[in-house]
Amino acid sequence: MNSAPVPADSPERVNLLGFDRIALEAFCVRQGEKPFRASQLLQWIHQRGVDDFQAMTNLSRELRARWADTCEIRPPAIALTQQSLDGTCKWLLQVDDTNRIETVFIPEEGRGTLCVSSQVGCTLACSFCSTAQQGFNRNLSVAEIIGQVWVARRELGPDRITNIVLMGMGEPLLNFDNVVSAVQLMLDDFAYGLSKRRVTLSTSGVVPALDRLGEVTDIALAVSLHAPDDALRNQLVPINRKYPIRELLAACKRYVGSDNRRKVTFEYVMLDGINDTPAHARALIRLLSHVPAKVNLIPFNPFPGSTYRCSSPETIRRFSDSLHQAGLITTTRKTRGDDIDAACGQLVGRVNDRTHRRIRLATATS
Ligand code: SAH
Repeated sequence: MNSAPVPADSPERVNLLGFDRIALEAFCVRQGEKPFRASQLLQWIHQRGVDDFQAMTNLSRELRARWADTCEIRPPAIALTQQSLDGTCKWLLQVDDTNRIETVFIPEEGRGTLCVSSQVGCTLACSFCSTAQQGFNRNLSVAEIIGQVWVARRELGPDRITNIVLMGMGEPLLNFDNVVSAVQLMLDDFAYGLSKRRVTLSTSGVVPALDRLGEVTDIALAVSLHAPDDALRNQLVPINRKYPIRELLAACKRYVGSDNRRKVTFEYVMLDGINDTPAHARALIRLLSHVPAKVNLIPFNPFPGSTYRCSSPETIRRFSDSLHQAGLITTTRKTRGDDIDAACGQLVGRVNDRTHRRIRLATATS
């Protein structure tokens, strides 16, 4: 094969970090190697966190040299690390000259959850989310999505990450192929080996993509519902105008299928005076009565420029109690990392906004 050396930082170098098993097997075969080398590469790259081909001692010297000349294992660079008083850790990662994203690790008793971003910014304009305020620039590549796991594992040490949630910046179902490849790596026994119950994708409800997701995987699903009726949800989560609640819930039912052990987690941000009254709770109970559902109440996390306030702890408790009494499994998310702006909806990174959302918003409100 042609293996002319390319310079170390050349874009022509193939970044193997972003190759899932299928892509790596195809790569190995193209290189005249047996497909089983893909498993070896997965183990070196993801289980051992190796980024130097010379360290891959079960590959021949010749193969190591050839791949070192033509390939690379290049994760995003850490621009800033912040540690919260509660142990939450946030990394600002540089994904190219102008764009940065954020990744958060949340340690809890007996588990550690990594919250991963899928896009630089977001197109969806949910009115209570700070990522939305920044606009959107581009989808993350597979290497940039799985690279967040790779970097976090390197920084934290092995065995700390027990769960992954695709709940960082962006709408994962609008970056479908790259997110699915990254998920395959999260699940692959030779990479991160997580069980599908420990990998959760959170979506605002892109219905056709949700159906496609169900065709390729059955990882855990969380849906950002936030309102029990279309009029209110249209305001909070504008994609509802395209895919209204009825269609979204039907897609959720199709996703979990007939396995009645599987449930969809419905996320519901608690906004003072907006969606938190007893009437909203009753409407939510009615709405979810025929859906295999769990509800996760999220206290609203404020950010600069946000106009909403969080419901009072008493209101959240009453809302939770009434759902609970109606038989709905209900949890309230503990706010973590808010002292370093690492809580839900506070992730901003740095986005080179192609949609000029910030300018539009500033003009609209001035
Ligand atoms: N785009 C995906 C995933 C990213 S957001 C989605 O919409 O699900 C992850 C969760 O945080 C979503 O439920 C989102 O609605 C919620 N969220 C966004 N902004 C928030 C804020 N300011 N306070 C609390 N939760 C917020």
